[in-house]
Amino acid sequence: MTSTDQPSPKPVTDIVLIGAGIMSATLGVLLKALDSTLSIAVYERLDAVAAESSDAWNNAGTGHSAFCELNYTPERPDGSIDISKADKIAEQFEVSKQFWASLVQEGPLPDPTSFIHTIPHMSFVWGAANVEYLRKRHAALLHSPLFQGLEFSEDPAQIAAWIPLVMEGRDPATPVAATRMAIGTDVNFGSLTRCLFKHLKAQPGVEFHLGHQVEDFQRKSDGIWRLKIEDLATGDRRIARAKFVFIGAGGGTLPLLEKTDIPEASGFGGFPVSGQWLKCRNPAVIARHEAKVYGKPAVGSPPMSMPHLDTRQINGQKELLFGPYAGFSTKFLKKGSYSDLFRSIELGNIRPLLYAGARNLGLTRYLIGQVLQSPEDRTAALREYYPSANPDDWQLEVAGQRVQVIKKDKKQGGVLEFGTEMVTSADGSIAALLGASPGASTAVAIMLDLVQKCFAERAATPEWQARLRQMVPSFGQRLADNPALTAEVRERSHQALRLDGGQQTKERQ
Ligand SMILES: Cc1cc2nc3c(=O)[nH]c(=O)nc-3n(C[C@H](O)[C@H](O)[C@H](O)COP(=O)(O)OP(=O)(O)OC[C@H]3O[C@@H](n4cnc5c(N)ncnc54)[C@H](O)[C@@H]3O)c2cc1C
Repeated sequence: MTSTDQPSPKPVTDIVLIGAGIMSATLGVLLKALDSTLSIAVYERLDAVAAESSDAWNNAGTGHSAFCELNYTPERPDGSIDISKADKIAEQFEVSKQFWASLVQEGPLPDPTSFIHTIPHMSFVWGAANVEYLRKRHAALLHSPLFQGLEFSEDPAQIAAWIPLVMEGRDPATPVAATRMAIGTDVNFGSLTRCLFKHLKAQPGVEFHLGHQVEDFQRKSDGIWRLKIEDLATGDRRIARAKFVFIGAGGGTLPLLEKTDIPEASGFGGFPVSGQWLKCRNPAVIARHEAKVYGKPAVGSPPMSMPHLDTRQINGQKELLFGPYAGFSTKFLKKGSYSDLFRSIELGNIRPLLYAGARNLGLTRYLIGQVLQSPEDRTAALREYYPSANPDDWQLEVAGQRVQVIKKDKKQGGVLEFGTEMVTSADGSIAALLGASPGASTAVAIMLDLVQKCFAERAATPEWQARLRQMVPSFGQRLADNPALTAEVRERSHQALRLDGGQQTKERQ
């Protein structure tokens, strides 16, 4: 072989994104907006994008802003309400809306109504203690500019005007209360993900590989990641080389992270929680409800199992869901394998797993109770929110799969977390997202953090800073202490996204 016949070295891609869900889509679009010369390759094991947790039917589509989710406003031992987490979640969602609004204005997301709609976010409780909690929560949240406009009522007639299905047939002797935020949103994250990938795919330097499963990693002294990838249609295996890798494989992230052998991955485990909904199939009932109504979670239940009676807008159609009912499956992905949980157990995480298990017996009891539920039990749960529900109007559907993070903890051995955890290597060449809550709503804030950690030098340049502020005008600033900025960015986002402070809701009624 002469020197001219030497095989050329395999190309090195700047960025590999594993998984075609909302997280990879957000990161890909963000990075390409910051540097259009970056080369990106996406590998997805399924034959479609957004077919796992990000699909509209697999998640609840709540634009999580802490307007209605009671787990973000815990009561302190002295009876006061802690709103710090609510402020953070609300701020993160404002960041997402600003980013999507910019993409609408710049062209990549031409039609915001294909993925986001206004729908009132409501909390509903009954019993004197819960009514008192909701009253205090409302008063506490009004101190924050992010919650201006939150309404509270204990008047059954007012609540019935807002949510007739929830009040019809209810015992009038039981005290009830509700809060209502007119500017809540329903987001079709599946549709959003598909729009983002459609835009990304059309960019120069972007490759897309559906039906390709990433199986293993190797890193040599040149610092380049080698990914072993199987083409699931042909069984062919190939090696892809990348400078930076994002593992956005949803429930499939943990097993992949373990294979990277980075020290930061040690001690993480995962606990799968599956979900089911009741989906309403009676158009007359669907037409009579116009809100996302969240209640208090049952004792021992994980926070993401808060029951909700949920108006959705999916593919141009109004829908109504109730749930989720939790369940247990050893799969990490809805389309995964029953051996996922067992294969994720390693020497480094067995201790945290056992400790977390021993410390969360309430959760174990709750999950067993949920798994053993009969159709009558499910109807009884539905009737707590819709007393005159007819079970014949509802059918059971399987929701997406979540993998809760279990972390090594010095004091307790292992703790079960209900949030998300970004794991990055010390040199910033690989990052992985574990956990699923609050989830897709906070994708933009999570990816902005990733960019600042893994691309720190470039993120600090005036060019990237200016572009970041152009896409997210509040970038680098807090909204919770800045009423003027909150009002300004909300107004801008809502105009671009055609969210109108409740006008859409009135028109649909
Ligand atoms: C029941 C339920 C309700 C929820 N409700 C809400 C809500 O109301 N609001 C909200 O904001 N969030 C909600 N979430 C969370 C939200 O859905 C997730 O946080 C989000 O969709 C995760 O996106 P992702 O891109 O990380 O993962 P996914 O959308 O799951 O995408 C991961 C992709 O990686 C692929 N993959 C896995 N392994 C490999 C591999 N080895 N090689 C190649 N590809 C691979 C998978 O096939 C999948 O397509 C909910 C989740 C569930 C389950």
